[in-house]
This record gives sequence, structure tokens and C-alpha cells, in this order.
Amino acid sequence: MKVEPSIQAQLLELAKIDTELTRIAHRRKSLPEQQEVDRLETEKTARKDAAVAVEIAMDDLDRDIRKLETEVDGVRKREQRDRAMLAAGTVGAKQLTELQHELDTLIRRQQVLEDELLEVMERREAAEADHQHAGAQLSRAEDELIDAARRRDDAMADLNVAEQRCNADRSAVLDQLPTELVADYDRRRSRSGIGAALLQARRCGGCRIELDRGAIAEIAHAAPELVVHCPECGTILVRTKESGL
Ligand SMILES: [Zn+2]
Repeated sequence: MKVEPSIQAQLLELAKIDTELTRIAHRRKSLPEQQEVDRLETEKTARKDAAVAVEIAMDDLDRDIRKLETEVDGVRKREQRDRAMLAAGTVGAKQLTELQHELDTLIRRQQVLEDELLEVMERREAAEADHQHAGAQLSRAEDELIDAARRRDDAMADLNVAEQRCNADRSAVLDQLPTELVADYDRRRSRSGIGAALLQARRCGGCRIELDRGAIAEIAHAAPELVVHCPECGTILVRTKESGL
């Protein structure tokens, strides 16, 4: 294939744009801002789970409190009934002993239940504090996530702008190049990642390998219009004054 050297040189511009497009695509996939969003989403889920767990614990404690309160109430009512019977003075001696015995038992039972109730209420209070703490941590994680998502969106928007600019530059360069040359460039690029590179100081700018004397002599003798390729990686080699020929 024969192409004007000045047109061949434009392949370097195309390669530069393509390298930039690859960099943008890679950056989009490995965006630190996205990683931060992912991390905060995981954290938010964990915080939410923690808050829900505390809510469940609070519900359990509320149920325990209601149960104990009902029990205390029942014991008090029996106590009142027994005291009323004692006060009425209508019971016989045997029943009186039984009643007093029952009253003692009821009083002890009430004490135990009230102690238990107090303990559960203290745990409920601690759970309430945990709940507030969990809620605060959850809303902080949510706020951080909103900020991080905004930073991610900004970074993505910057990349999109840069990509659009590269694509515009790319089509402008492509307009200057013969179809056959572009096809060769694309084929070689899909094979090795680099379609065209500068031959600089006898070294291929694509694979960075220094070409041997034979290859250099061959390239040096080739007509400037002839499109030459790196014998090592196959990339199109663009010759300039810096090529060391
Ligand atoms: Zn090479």
C-alpha cells in the first residue's frame, strides 16, 4: 500500500486519540468515585440492617414489658382481693392462715416481677439509645452516599465530555485518511492493541523492541510512500526524521 508520508503521519494522531479513548474506557470501569459509591452502598445496607435489628429487639422488649405489667397487675389484684377478705374479718382461722401465706407469696412474687420489669425497662432504654445511634449512623451513610454519587456523576460527565471530544477528533482525522489505510490500521490495532506507532531511534513505538539491522535496512530502502510494518508486532510504522534511518 502506498500513502503520502504526511498522510501516514496522521496515523500517529489517530493512535494517540485511540490510546486516550482506551484510557477513558478503562477509567470509567475503574473509577475511584464509583468504588466509593459501592463501598457506601454496602455500608448503608449494613447500617440499615443494624437499625432494623435494634427495632426488632425493641419490639421484643416492649412485648416483655407488657407481659410483665399484666402479670404485676394480676398479682396486685389478687393481693387486693386477699386484703379485702382479711379486712372483712369473715374468714375462719384456717382460711386466715392460708390467706396470710398467700399474701406473703404474692408480695414476694410482686417484688420479683417488679425487679424484672425494672431491668427490662432499663434494657429498653439502652435499646432506645442504640436505636438513635443506629439511625444517626444510617442517615450519615445516606448523606455520604448522596455526595459520593454526585462526585461519581461529575466524574462520569467529565469522562463523557472527554470521550465526545476524542470521537470528534477521531472522525476529523479519519476524514483525511484513505479507507484502505484505516482498514489496515484497525486490523492491526484489534490484533495487538496498537494500529500505528512511530519508528523512533530504530525502536518500534508499539512493542518498544529495537529492530535489527536487516529490518532497519529494509525499511530505510522502502519508498517513503510505502506503508511499512513492525516485523515484531505488526503495527504500522510511521517514519519521521527521528526514526534513525
Ligand atoms: Zn513493534
